[in-house]
Formats: sequence, structure tokens, C-alpha cells
Amino acid sequence: MIKEKINFLEMDRISLEKFFLSIGEKSFRAMQIMKWIYFHYCDDFKLMTDIKSSLRFYLDSIATISAPKIVERKNSFDGTIKWKMRLYDSKEIETVFIPEKTRGTICVSSQVGCLLGCKFCATSMNGFKRNLKTSEIVGQIWRIKKIIDTQKNMIKNVVFMGMGEPLLNLKNLISSIRIISDNFGFSISKKKITVSTVGIPFAIKKLSENVDVSLAFSLHAPTNNLRNKIIPINKKYDISSCLSSINKFLRNSNIKNKKVTIEYVMIDGINDTIQHARQLVKCINKTPNKINLIPLNRINNLKYSFTRSKEKNIFIFQRFLIDKGFVTTVRNSRGEDIHAACGQLIGKIYKK
Ligand code: SAH
Repeated sequence: MIKEKINFLEMDRISLEKFFLSIGEKSFRAMQIMKWIYFHYCDDFKLMTDIKSSLRFYLDSIATISAPKIVERKNSFDGTIKWKMRLYDSKEIETVFIPEKTRGTICVSSQVGCLLGCKFCATSMNGFKRNLKTSEIVGQIWRIKKIIDTQKNMIKNVVFMGMGEPLLNLKNLISSIRIISDNFGFSISKKKITVSTVGIPFAIKKLSENVDVSLAFSLHAPTNNLRNKIIPINKKYDISSCLSSINKFLRNSNIKNKKVTIEYVMIDGINDTIQHARQLVKCINKTPNKINLIPLNRINNLKYSFTRSKEKNIFIFQRFLIDKGFVTTVRNSRGEDIHAACGQLIGKIYKK
């Protein structure tokens, strides 16, 4: 049987060091290789000229540097770019780059499909296929940085807001964050890496024991009664259990005055009245936070017919929260014309 090659995009610096020691090499080879991978975007051992040729030859025979393949690119009028990428087993995921004036954000996927079934989101519509491997998470960034960042280091933020629930793929999430933040990896500060979650208390605890990143909580409803209806997993992990794990997460951080971002999708007539805003204040006033209101993005073929809150109502809702002392912003929807906005990522449509 032919042994499968090791993919170096699976390995953080410590595992690479262990690997090189195990083949009788010095541990500094790990940093040397990482520089080739993450600074020069090189995936061919033969080109790694500062590594002795016998080692290059050996690595070529047992290892690869293998990221998902780009199969489609769509450009939005607002500068947002969405890529469809194909995985080794032909499944497909989507990744988005959102540019601003001097910097940009990559929105990465953590799963193929999603298990959660939130009623306003497209990603669950084709069901859940599988977790992404570390190399498939890191590989999305590697592909895009290779295109965007070769001349200019634009990408400063990574958000886990693409397809899937990152905290249900915890092990690979943590190892990919280690690579993304490593100085010999993508060197993106952990503060600038945001994990967005529907709220999985035990995983929030595990995350905080491992990596000190930023957290966004998809609350979307101020009471369990309403949240149960639009986010089914709330029946398992209710609002108070999520917030209590988030409070611990914030206290455990080394960053002073760390805040969670409360994400709140604005759905017309469902969660956007002043009564809801009042309930929201009560719900989150013991958790250091900043609130991000997300005007609902349109999803085709959704089972439930939700519409975006009226602009006037979003404004009134925001005003109410600001008056109560909450930092509250409204998320500018980006890339909606190419279906790259929040909740619109779906990957391949599997015809029944
Ligand atoms: N599973 C993670 C990441 C999902 S996507 C989570 O739930 O946080 C990132 C954000 O987009 C989440 O806040 C999600 O609730 C939101 N979202 C989903 N569908 C949306 C839609 N149709 N319009 C606007 N935001 C949406």
C-alpha cells in the first residue's frame, strides 16, 4: 500500500519541529519550511533553495503542501471577492475577501455545510457534509493571500464567519488559529482573528484554554422563546448557558477589557421592535460587549419567508441601544450581489 503523503499545511510549528527531529534533522528546519510556505507561498520543495538537496528530495517523496483548489471567482461591485474552492473529495466551500481602504478581511469556512439549521441562513440548506481539515482552513487563506498579498500585505483580519459552526470543529479550528497567528505562519494577531459562534458552552471554554482570540456571539434574539424558533440549537444551549461561558471566556483573556461582539440579525417584525431592544439590554447587560446589528441578507429558496428590517426600524433599534450606553454598529452588507454576504454562503448545490 502506498503511504499517503503528509500535508505540511496540517501542521503547526510545534508539530513541524517534532517531525524534523523525528527524521534526524534540526528543529529550525520547521521555521525554514514555514517561511517558504507562508512568506513565499511556495508549494514545491524543489524550489526551496536554502534547504540541502538531499532533504528537499526526501521531503518531496513523503510530504506535500496542498491547499484547496480555486474553481471559481466572483467580483462584487463593492470590491468584495468570493472564491469557490474544491476539496480533495470534490466537495466545495466558499471563502470571501472583503477589502477596505488600507486593509482587508478574509472570511473563512470551517465546515462543508452546517448542522445548525438556523432558519435565516443558507449554509444549512444542503445539510452538513463534514468538518474541514486544518489544511483546508489554513489553505483557504494561503490561496487568497497568494493572490492578494504578494505585493502588499493587505489582509489583517480573519473571521470565522463563512460556512459552518467553527466551534463544532474545535480541534482543527485551534490548530489552524495557531498557524494563522504564528510569526512564521500568516502572522495575524490573535486579536484580529474572530471566531463567530452560535454558542457552544463547552467549546467556548476549550477555546479559551487554548487560544486567546476575539469572539462573536450570534445571539439574534433576546429571549429563549424567540431564539428557540430561529436557532434550533438554543434548545440545547440556551442563552444564559452561552453567556455564562462567554463571561468566563472574557475573564480568562490576557487582553484587558475584552468584549464579545453580539451579532444580531435584523428581521422585519420578528426581532426588531423596541420591546426586543429593551429585552436585549436586559439580556446582555452583565456581559462586556459591543453590538453589531446585521440587516438580514436575502436568501433564495429559504423555507421561511423572512425579510430585512426596514431601515427606519434598524435606526430606531440602534438609537435605543446607544442611548442605553451600548456601543452599537450596523454591519454594512458587502458582496450581496455575488451572494458573498453573511448567511449567503452555500458551496455546491447538490441536486437531489
Ligand atoms: N456558525 C457561526 C458562523 C456563521 S456565519 C455563527 O453562527 O456565528 C456568520 C454570521 O452570519 C452569523 O452571525 C450568522 O447568524 C449570520 N447570518 C446567517 N444568515 C444570515 C442572513 N441571512 N443575513 C445576515 N446574517 C446572517
